[in-house]
Amino acid sequence: MRGRSENDLKKIVVAIGGNPNSGKTTIFNELTGSRQKVGNWGGVTVEKKEGRVKYGGYSIVFVDLPGTYSLSAYSLEEIIARNFIVNEKPDVIIDIIDAGNLERNLYLAVQMIEMRGNFIFVLNMADMAEKMGVIIERDKLGSLLSGPVIFTVGNKGIGVKDILDAVIHIYEGEETKSRHIHVSYGNELEEEIKKIQSKIRADKNIPLHYSTRWLAVKLVENDPDVIEKLEKESNQSSSIIKQAEKSRNHLGKVFDDEPEHLIADQRYGFISGLLRECVTLKIKERVDISQKIDKIITNRFIGIPILVFFIWVMFQVTFKVGSYPMGWIDSVINFISMGISYIMPDGFFKSLLIDGIISGVGGVAIFLPNILLLFLMISLFEDTGYMARAAFVTDRIMHLIGLHGKSFISMIMGFGCNVPAIMSTRTLENEKDRILTILINPLMSCSARLPVYVLVAGAFFGTNAGNMIFSLYIMGIILAMVIGRLFRKTLFRGETAPFVMELPPYRIPTMKSVLIHMWERAVIFIRKMGTVILVGSIVIWFLGFFPEKKEYSTDYELEKKKISEHYTYELKNLVLGSERYDQQKEKLLKEKDAGIQSIERAKTQEAIAFSFIGRMGRAVEPFFKPLGFSWREGVALITGFFAKEVIVSTMGVLYSSGGNEKGQELSYFLREKSGLTPVTAYAFLVFVLIYTPCLASIMAVKQETKSFKWTFFSIFYQITLAWIMAFLIVRIGGFLTTFIT
Ligand code: GDP
Ligand code: MG
Repeated sequence: MRGRSENDLKKIVVAIGGNPNSGKTTIFNELTGSRQKVGNWGGVTVEKKEGRVKYGGYSIVFVDLPGTYSLSAYSLEEIIARNFIVNEKPDVIIDIIDAGNLERNLYLAVQMIEMRGNFIFVLNMADMAEKMGVIIERDKLGSLLSGPVIFTVGNKGIGVKDILDAVIHIYEGEETKSRHIHVSYGNELEEEIKKIQSKIRADKNIPLHYSTRWLAVKLVENDPDVIEKLEKESNQSSSIIKQAEKSRNHLGKVFDDEPEHLIADQRYGFISGLLRECVTLKIKERVDISQKIDKIITNRFIGIPILVFFIWVMFQVTFKVGSYPMGWIDSVINFISMGISYIMPDGFFKSLLIDGIISGVGGVAIFLPNILLLFLMISLFEDTGYMARAAFVTDRIMHLIGLHGKSFISMIMGFGCNVPAIMSTRTLENEKDRILTILINPLMSCSARLPVYVLVAGAFFGTNAGNMIFSLYIMGIILAMVIGRLFRKTLFRGETAPFVMELPPYRIPTMKSVLIHMWERAVIFIRKMGTVILVGSIVIWFLGFFPEKKEYSTDYELEKKKISEHYTYELKNLVLGSERYDQQKEKLLKEKDAGIQSIERAKTQEAIAFSFIGRMGRAVEPFFKPLGFSWREGVALITGFFAKEVIVSTMGVLYSSGGNEKGQELSYFLREKSGLTPVTAYAFLVFVLIYTPCLASIMAVKQETKSFKWTFFSIFYQITLAWIMAFLIVRIGGFLTTFIT
């Protein structure tokens, strides 16, 4: 207990740690003078020194910990140093760092800040650092490590007294302040750490004594000392250790490497990011391969163009390479559809199968290759370590909207799917940043919106379709920026918390990890086709088929008969044997077919308008009318609320004309029969881009914000914004077209 000493002074216990040869002993002696007690640590022969100083009305006890490079349990020294911090809970912990050897020394610091405590970072050998031309920004380093930084030259006694002031200051003021800074180990590891933490928290006693995050990280590292501790002290130890083993196995499989290496890599990545932010070298630069690459890729001027290039490559691969397998799948589906229409008699089931299920699910299935390729690219970005650099490069731009580069990672992931992207915001420590990042994420155009873009842009913009689609992606990013800034200024006012962007070394991604990620995506997509999209297609088909229309406004059968008769008459009148006989006959037959088809189509249209879905469409018509959408687009947007791909299925059903031809046919009907113009079609796509992505994303927002308020807010602002933007496009576009033509 922190009782009163014999002099009635309050006692502060301070532990001094650091790498061997960082000058610990020198500083310890300087601080404590001759008032030292030398002995051994309990039970072992490692030297223990303690010294007491009276200063500022306190009695400060310094304990010189054994010098270590790390706090894993590899050596006795490490275990002693660590146990002292964990068990004795000193009031203040000083880490002596050799400023001339920052990178290596920070490895210990980074592990210390994972534990609970108040830290002071003493950058000793400041003279050496200066000689080497190392310039360190003290305040920045302090805020990124979240503890005061003091420069000292131990053997000359320079700066040592500042340590005493800092000790008292931190003891008096900041004891209750919680720490936000820690190394973030990347999504895959963080997920496992969270799982272990939640098992640890099942034992209510542990969080009182230990940082659960620290314990979880140690378990991922398979730290024998921590395992032993848990076995002794926790009633939950078996479930905790089981989870830890499961997590280690999973990580080993995904990365093909020992989890402890991954953790070490990520710590060095943190340090690398830290050094890049706070240290400049005046004289010569130490470079290894990763740093050499980083000098180019994270360069102030060409970093952004390089990033834009990689994103461009990502979309090229997705669309260009994806178009081949897309064609194959399309032919397979057409083949099946034709086969069925050939063997099955006309009627209810045939229509359900072909117009409902195959046109609904098949229309979406052809996008599987695009989606897998997009995820392949994203997982390559992640696994090589490029994603971290992208975050680093965009950091300055993201500051414009009051966010960090880290939020950019979740934005790129949003191109794949907003659900994992929203979950990836867990690596952001600050709650406000997290919610803001979650709110703007749905503006990143996910892969589910792609089928709609391809269909509608293909129908209306011909060879320009690609550019129009790309403009949607860009619009999403720009809107995210603008909205982000707006929300930051109004809803989330306040400082952004300092943090370090990890720059882990580049890695060649393992085939296994890439395949695992793609396989996981494929399973999710196929499951979605088998559930949401299948059910959605069937439901929409039913809603379009019932109630059956018995009486029509016109007698379509009579009309058909009239046409038949008319052409039979015309055909008879052709002069047999005239030189253009064959040509004319063919022409007349074609006209006859087209006439009959258009009557059949008119009949189906009337039936659909009479059906449930038609009535639903009329109900929502007023809402969409100002945007130039017909009731069909309105219905499609409503069903798209469940999943964006369903929009394609819905349009397939609503515009299918009873014929068996699909595919490009649908885009033909859209162009010719929907009443959309290129301008309103683009407005439609913009609406699809902006409004709520899908039910699953809403659920993810709810889960991650833990707030109904933000969930509803997110839905509301997106629909409103979508309507406004679509409206503006219709107005401006309409104005421009009248202006030009
Ligand atoms: P420890 O192993 O961490 O206890 O390190 P020591 O205190 O034994 O110091 C190692 C060596 O570094 C000694 O020769 C010290 O005189 C020297 N030293 C300590 N602090 C400084 C400093 O700030 N600048 C320089 N140039 N040398 C220092
Ligand atoms: Mg020493």
